[in-house]
Amino acid sequence: MIQTLSRAVCRIAGRTMDLLLRPLPPLVRIETTNACNSRCTICPPSRHAAADPADGRPPVHLHHRPVRRAGCREIHLHNFGEPLMDDRIAQRVRYAKQCGLPRVKIFSNGSLMDERWARELIDAGLDEIKISFDGATREEFEQIRAPLQFDRIIENIHRLVALRNQFAIPHEDSRGLLQHFGQAGNGSPAGGSCR
Ligand code: SF4
Repeated sequence: MIQTLSRAVCRIAGRTMDLLLRPLPPLVRIETTNACNSRCTICPPSRHAAADPADGRPPVHLHHRPVRRAGCREIHLHNFGEPLMDDRIAQRVRYAKQCGLPRVKIFSNGSLMDERWARELIDAGLDEIKISFDGATREEFEQIRAPLQFDRIIENIHRLVALRNQFAIPHEDSRGLLQHFGQAGNGSPAGGSCR
């Protein structure tokens, strides 16, 4: 009986140590909101019903510092939601950069990227953003990504690129931002992607 108990305790202690000592993966994804302003046909229907009360969102300082200490190099602040539905997303990006995360990235549907958001995210130090597109034509896009408007998103992307250029971000980690904004700024929807 004592032997069995002792073996069980050793096993639990061993597993706990294993978990504590195991390094985090180099990339961590944190969803700060599951709300979205779109109802795309390619999105899991269950997602459409997701509720996201503002007071349920994680605090800005969630996890970044321990994540960095554990060796993580890249953090994505999105999953199954539109990150710009989180009114604190720019603060989160800024905090992650202040914690020393080399690369901070979001995916977005681009529809809410007005001038205020563009300025705030660039200023916060966002390294990369991907704007999701589906469909090879305006009609296809608006069919799949209803109620998003193709022209509005293209306009938002152009403004973002212009502001990015105006800010002339000096640090090396801005290359991804430049690259992806540049691609999107050509006005040619490239590849379909969904978060
Ligand atoms: S695919 Fe993206 S933009 Fe469309 S409903 Fe889902 S989360 Fe929102």
